[in-house]
Amino acid sequence: MEEFSKIVRKKTRKINLGGVPIGGDAPITVQSMTNTNTSDVQATVAQIRELEEAGCEIIRVAVTDQEAAAALPEIIKRINLPLIADIHFNHQLAIDAMKAGVAAIRINPGNISRDKIREVIQVAKEREVVIRIGVNAGSLQKDMVLEYGGVTAEALVASALKNIELFEEEGFQNLKLSLKSSDVPVMIESYKLIAEKTDYPLHLGVTEAGTLVDAAIKSALGIGTLLYQGIGDTIRVSVTGNPVLEIPIAYGILRSLKIRKVGPEIVSCPTCGRCQIDLPGLVAKIEKALVGRKKYIKVALMGCVVNGPGEAADADIGIAGGKGFGMMFKKGVAYKRVDEKDFVPVLLEEIKSLDNE
Ligand code: SF4
Repeated sequence: MEEFSKIVRKKTRKINLGGVPIGGDAPITVQSMTNTNTSDVQATVAQIRELEEAGCEIIRVAVTDQEAAAALPEIIKRINLPLIADIHFNHQLAIDAMKAGVAAIRINPGNISRDKIREVIQVAKEREVVIRIGVNAGSLQKDMVLEYGGVTAEALVASALKNIELFEEEGFQNLKLSLKSSDVPVMIESYKLIAEKTDYPLHLGVTEAGTLVDAAIKSALGIGTLLYQGIGDTIRVSVTGNPVLEIPIAYGILRSLKIRKVGPEIVSCPTCGRCQIDLPGLVAKIEKALVGRKKYIKVALMGCVVNGPGEAADADIGIAGGKGFGMMFKKGVAYKRVDEKDFVPVLLEEIKSLDNE
């Protein structure tokens, strides 16, 4: 997909996660995590397919026990996305997951001993599995918390660096890093600091971001601020609830920063006393009709003809409302009058014809 921003990305080394490049000049990818019981193959595969349909590009599942590890081969067989196994505490599960064929594992080295990490690294090397070192504010090693006087950005970075050292001692560099916190300024600071110190690709995310509105705000601020500074190679928005809801937020962040031209960008005015059409109703219907669309299009839905066309001059297609009718404009130029009752079918027809151009 086309990238169209003027943001200069910090150069990171490129890794290959099950066929999806991350880092370097690779597009910034969108990932998510299932919330099904991983040992329930059917439910997990169904959710992964739904996420893929929504635009997810890399998927992670929690591997909490032997049953979950045993389900991995069947899950991998039935999905198209590269799979990451998320493992805490139990290094044997990490080894089993790699043997089952996952493209990557995510471990939190803070909760696995160094000797056991070495065993994990050996298997990852043999199988060319990517490892994400996932440092998390909620589970930072006690010694780091004591040394830095709390869960600070410096403490998170020190923990990440200490762990990288161990991987490098073993000659392993097929890494990506995350330093997540639910505190947005700490998260931003941590990634900025680590980006100065290493060139491993960075997975950005605000952890425990909350339900939809809070998650969208925190992620847009945390992930967006970093991306705008050229930091970050892959992103995950965390939402309490259905993970499918994360994907439009993630793409909204990338689209708003003009990093990836993907999906429908709907520009709509807040309405004011000049609006004489049911604009919220129109926006809801068009949004619904375009759910799941991958191809980029900018649709402007404006309340009136006074400011509407001017405010949305660069849209591919749009409508500016009048009284019981609207002026449709294409590529910023007004070209036909449409009755309000026909807004939705005519817009969808025009979008279809633009797609075929
Ligand atoms: Fe008001 Fe028209 Fe602007 Fe919408 S486009 S906010 S209706 S002036």
